[in-house]
Amino acid sequence: MKKIKKILIANRGEIAVRVIRTCKDLGIRTVSVYSEIDQNLPHVRLADEAYCIGRATPAESYLNKQKIIDIALKAQVDAIHPGYGFLSENSEFSKMVQDAGIIFIGPPPEAIEKMGDKISARRLVSAASIPVVPGTDAPVMDLNQAIEFGRKYGYPILLKAAGGGGGKGMRIVKMESELTSALRSAQSEAQTAFGDNRIYIEKYLENPRHIEFQILCDSYGNGIHLGERECSIQRRHQKIIEESPSVIMTPELRDKMGRAAVKAALSANYRNAGTIEFLVDKQSNFYFLEMNTRLQVEHPVTEMVTQIDIVKEQINIAEGNPLSYSQSQINFRGHAIECRIYAEDYENNFLPSIGKIKKLKSAAGAFIREDRGVDEGNEISVYYDPMISKLIAWGETRDIALKRMQRALEEYKLAGIKTNINACKWILNHKKFVEGDFDTHFIENYYNPEIIKNKRDEIIEAIAIISTIYLNNQKASYDHTIKNKDVSKWKSKKLEYFR
Ligand code: ADP
Repeated sequence: MKKIKKILIANRGEIAVRVIRTCKDLGIRTVSVYSEIDQNLPHVRLADEAYCIGRATPAESYLNKQKIIDIALKAQVDAIHPGYGFLSENSEFSKMVQDAGIIFIGPPPEAIEKMGDKISARRLVSAASIPVVPGTDAPVMDLNQAIEFGRKYGYPILLKAAGGGGGKGMRIVKMESELTSALRSAQSEAQTAFGDNRIYIEKYLENPRHIEFQILCDSYGNGIHLGERECSIQRRHQKIIEESPSVIMTPELRDKMGRAAVKAALSANYRNAGTIEFLVDKQSNFYFLEMNTRLQVEHPVTEMVTQIDIVKEQINIAEGNPLSYSQSQINFRGHAIECRIYAEDYENNFLPSIGKIKKLKSAAGAFIREDRGVDEGNEISVYYDPMISKLIAWGETRDIALKRMQRALEEYKLAGIKTNINACKWILNHKKFVEGDFDTHFIENYYNPEIIKNKRDEIIEAIAIISTIYLNNQKASYDHTIKNKDVSKWKSKKLEYFR
């Protein structure tokens, strides 16, 4: 057991800031690393020490394993926290850190290897009698194997990259005639994105929910779960809004899924924090999808409902201590929801919108948390994920949490780049979302940027009318009652749609 007194955070932006904050709470010194274009980011300013690690491209900076380890040794840190993305699920990095005599705040390399490869994870988990999405248990080497799978399970099917993530290398195939070109393009996308062209196939579940479980495991074979996160609101198979608990959860189902999640993790001799992702069908049957062997973007919703600082627990486990809680000590209180605020164009297929944040007015107030790694004046560049901020709201009930989130989104103002804030507001207002009646196809089924655009045009028109009325009013007097009635009508429209 070793007390950790100094940590290097091998990451950037909001997650680096997030980790630094807990370190400060615990009296642990922090070291940040940054690429040349990131020198003005908050994670550089907030750390006790910060070192430039190279040029903007991730390969030359945040993915440069040796350089990061050299700095860790020079700065004499006890441990490295990898955050998410970049090197967080890289077993070679975890091993290099260990070999350098530094603690890796995450799982051992063997567990990352077992769970990081989606095919081996599926094999391992189904051997532990946990249901997995029906699929191939080996890479598909040629077209005939794919044809055979399609004929056996029926279409649609989903081609997936074994080493994949972030929805890349995924192709839905609706009929046999699409298979040849889909397989070819999935393989080439997987090769480019992950340097690994192995593809496997899953049955494409028609209307699932994505529900995942946060787990914690220590070095003594103990594992617990911290409940679920509902992550079905996605665009391009990537999450935008997450909440805990899920509206479909019952204590019995939570117990059943939570036990399966812990069992899945322990079957890989897992240690530290991790997430087991499931797809859940309309009958509440659940299927293992994959394991993320790191801290997730959406972990704050779990922290809000459990009042447990997951980064603190990660550090505690990495020090070699047993878990601080038993399963029966985990209590859930209220409801939390997170909106990921991205620099992207919600009117144009959510494409990234890069540039300088000229103005930023954040949201605050009771039970609102913001995790953000950029400030006014910083740039959203092409080199990294365009997430600006995570806004999290808590309430005693889902309804209260949703209203708080709406209020916070209304307060939030950004200028200089496009954001998805209006799209988030639209989702939170949607009847189906409010009723909790949705699945992973919510955006596909209901989202139409024209709706938001039309509202915006209506408002612009309204403002023009108000100006005309005002100008006319300067020139001549007119009926007071009508004026007041019209203005208040337009004003309430404005309040509803255009903030
Ligand atoms: P990645 O690691 O690339 O993020 P995942 O396996 O986690 O990929 O899947 C991401 C999302 O894609 C899921 O949340 C779900 O919406 C969709 N998805 C993945 N597999 C299936 C499947 N077999 N059937 C239906 N949807 C799926």
